[in-house]
Amino acid sequence: MAKVFLTGGTGFVGAHILHELLVYGYTVVAAVRSSWKGQRLEQRYTDELGDRLSTVVVEDISKEGAFDEAVQTFPFDFVIHVASPFYLFPKNPEEDMLKPAISGTLGLLQSVKTYAPSVNRVIVTSSFAAMENPTSHPPVYSEECWNPITYEQALDPSLAYFGSKKLAEKAAWAFMLEEKPSFTLTTICPPLIYGPVMHHLDTLNDINTSNEFIRDVILGKFQEHIPPTPLYLWVDVRDVAHVHIQALDAAGAESERFLVVAGHCDNKAIIDVIREEFPQLAPILPPKILPGDLPLNVYQYDDTKVTKILGLRYHSLRDSIKATVATLLDKGDGLEKVVRPRCLI
Ligand code: NDP
Repeated sequence: MAKVFLTGGTGFVGAHILHELLVYGYTVVAAVRSSWKGQRLEQRYTDELGDRLSTVVVEDISKEGAFDEAVQTFPFDFVIHVASPFYLFPKNPEEDMLKPAISGTLGLLQSVKTYAPSVNRVIVTSSFAAMENPTSHPPVYSEECWNPITYEQALDPSLAYFGSKKLAEKAAWAFMLEEKPSFTLTTICPPLIYGPVMHHLDTLNDINTSNEFIRDVILGKFQEHIPPTPLYLWVDVRDVAHVHIQALDAAGAESERFLVVAGHCDNKAIIDVIREEFPQLAPILPPKILPGDLPLNVYQYDDTKVTKILGLRYHSLRDSIKATVATLLDKGDGLEKVVRPRCLI
């Protein structure tokens, strides 16, 4: 079976991609930042799936040649590059976010070109953040869209993440044009991702950025109000993982950029699902009568390409939020203490 080199397998999205790769029978080498993270990841798979998983340490993906050795572990068929810092307001936007995102992506492409000639296709996890223009939304978002952020603007902490995703993806496409490697490139652009949390969390404080809101809701942080929705588009993590795996060898997926969106939603819609599916949490949720903020004339999106070429069918918002909350309740020792005594009356 084919061999995949994966980055970001210790995170929210990457853990699902790793799991689906193993279930589909791929052999996977996951690049991790330290040997103990690698051991912890390998220990998760104590059954026969684990026979096809190994890890390799790449300490600093920003460093020149960081991936040179790692991509020679096996004659790989595919590479999936998920690793990139995802949080808002980095202390040092250039060092903490722009360099790992841009140099990490370019460095990996260069290492594959030089040292891994067997690779057919590289998939890069980009983002709707690379497309979004918050000051002037187009009527319909599609794969044609790019945010207007420059490198200089991305040095502003509030824009750093958006800049990092756009500049890293642009750099990857430019690499393909200039270097003409023997592999093809596909990029995946999801908006806010929710869904079950599979990766290791020491505490719920370590939750990934896109699930922070749901964690805070079930910790009772918003009992009187609903905070503004940051983005009105969402998708389930299992669908995002599935698209990455489908894109590895689907005909027509090469050299394409895919916008992957399940639908519109606002924070109120998420809280309503939580109230209905977890009635024990109702006492610590904001009142049902509070309005949502999804505009009537909200921007639309065109996901024709992903449904046509990759045949994707999306999880519903109810299913996604229900699964997210269920795993958080399960994981959260702290949550047990905070939530149970107050709402299981
Ligand atoms: P997580 O924070 O859960 O995972 C990020 C992964 O990238 C982890 O494996 C992490 O490693 C690794 N990583 C982060 N920074 C670095 C770095 N400087 N050097 C090496 N590795 C690093 O985030 P998600 O899983 O949510 O995001 C994964 C990808 O998906 C990112 O590219 C993100 O931009 C993209 N994305 C996510 C969306 C979402 O809503 N979640 C939406 C659209 C795109 P470690 O475990 O060691 O920290």
